[in-house]
Amino acid sequence: MAVVEPDLMTKITSLCKRRGFIFQSSEIYGGLRSCYDYGPLGVELKRNIQNEWWRCMVYEREDVTGIDASIMMHPQVWKTSGHLSGFSDPLVDCLNCKERFRADKAPKHAAGTEMAYIKGGKSGGEKLKGKVQDRGYVCPVCSCPELSAERQFNLMFRTSMGPVDPLSEIGNVLKDSMTSEQKRAAIEETTGKSAVYLRPETAQAMFVQFLNVQQSMSMKVPFGIAQVGKSFRNEIVVEHYVFRSCEFEQMEMEFFCEPGSQGEWLTYWKNERLDWYGRYANDKAKFRLRRHDEDELAHYSDDCYDIEYLYPWGWGELEGVASRTDYDLTKHAEASGVKLSYFDQNKVDPSTGKQGWRYTPYVIEPAAGLTRTVLCMLLDAYCEEKSVDAEGQEKTRVVLKLHPKFAPIKAAILPLVKKDGLPEKAREIVKAFRKAGVNVSYDEQQSIGKRYARHDEIGTPYCLTVDMQSLDDGTVTVRDRDSGQQSRHPISDAIKTVLDRIQEGSN
Ligand code: ATP
Repeated sequence: MAVVEPDLMTKITSLCKRRGFIFQSSEIYGGLRSCYDYGPLGVELKRNIQNEWWRCMVYEREDVTGIDASIMMHPQVWKTSGHLSGFSDPLVDCLNCKERFRADKAPKHAAGTEMAYIKGGKSGGEKLKGKVQDRGYVCPVCSCPELSAERQFNLMFRTSMGPVDPLSEIGNVLKDSMTSEQKRAAIEETTGKSAVYLRPETAQAMFVQFLNVQQSMSMKVPFGIAQVGKSFRNEIVVEHYVFRSCEFEQMEMEFFCEPGSQGEWLTYWKNERLDWYGRYANDKAKFRLRRHDEDELAHYSDDCYDIEYLYPWGWGELEGVASRTDYDLTKHAEASGVKLSYFDQNKVDPSTGKQGWRYTPYVIEPAAGLTRTVLCMLLDAYCEEKSVDAEGQEKTRVVLKLHPKFAPIKAAILPLVKKDGLPEKAREIVKAFRKAGVNVSYDEQQSIGKRYARHDEIGTPYCLTVDMQSLDDGTVTVRDRDSGQQSRHPISDAIKTVLDRIQEGSN
């Protein structure tokens, strides 16, 4: 049974640091807010999740192909997509405790509701009361309804490209006689010329490369373009560890389909994607689909679902599956002057009744967070099993029940002692696994019990123990992580058991 308790996040973050999954970025300098480094086990877990996504979305299908686009794109991409003007969060300051927060994520209360709060938000301060304003939310920290006006804050990281640092030019263009408005315009003019942006989503590259991919690979609609990569958002509220960070990774696919077929494909993809998580998770009940209300839909979308997970703090988004209409291709075609359309000679054009139909494809987009899936799978896998030992002492076994395909290390090869030829025999087994391209670990440190516990905690599905009998009859003990059961097998069978389990389809 997975653990659901308020301090589960604390346990996960502590395990991740202790065991080399995730570290705070630049930790020795005090860390950089909301930036994380994936350690030796974290990088394997992340890569395994990414590989499974790619296998399912690209290798197992004829109708999806992949790309890997650059992170910086022509600034016009972001103007056309609407990210430059519209990709912003509404920000508000609390006039009582000075907290700055996102209006759309703040606790909602009906206008006129009386709220109690403490002056300055400090414990022991004067108790005050106030009524919720018409906008219907209050400060998430102190519950005060007295708030500043909303301001928009663009989420894209901006930098500059070119040989001249635009900041060094600013001194030449600013004059004392300028008003502050004129100064702002002059700064924008100087820095704007070389401005480029770190992409806030991977999706736009699939739209602007639609034609190149379609033509070079002779793809026929319906077809998809998949991509996995880094995205960057200057998030105001960074929260829940890697759930919401400023630098993160996405696994996105744009599926181009005939106008009118988007409803059918949305149903197909939302179910496919929900099933995908279910194949790897222990507790499927913690995944659900939530359809967006009409007022939640982005202006370009005609329908959208979120795949949500029950995080320790409640249901939250894991992946969005959106029907994006023909908005992006149409807008990029208008702005670039390049026809981003598709000609199907086997179809009749519904508007003319003639054979051959040229149309702008509609798009279904399953957009998942890779780093968010890492967190979700760690939460799903974390278990604590209590038992009583021979001396009557209560013991807790911490085990990460990661799916074997996601487990960073597939098997631990453990010589019972560091002598008598056991290390050499164990290394032969390690070599056989490495030859098969499987990541295993040779471990001879500490007692066998401690080694089992260490590998339970990092989710290693099997421990293969080499003892004196192994030298005589070529057998090893295979210990199963989830049940703790041990059984004796010839070495070749033990290797096959592990390989079969990680190669077989997901459960
Ligand atoms: P949210 O509502 O949580 O802000 P979103 O709707 O802005 O997410 P999308 O733009 O649909 O997210 O991005 C697709 C996926 O990328 C999300 O479902 C999430 O898994 C992931 N994602 C988005 N923003 C972040 C972030 N700041 N940190 C980590 N993952 C993110």
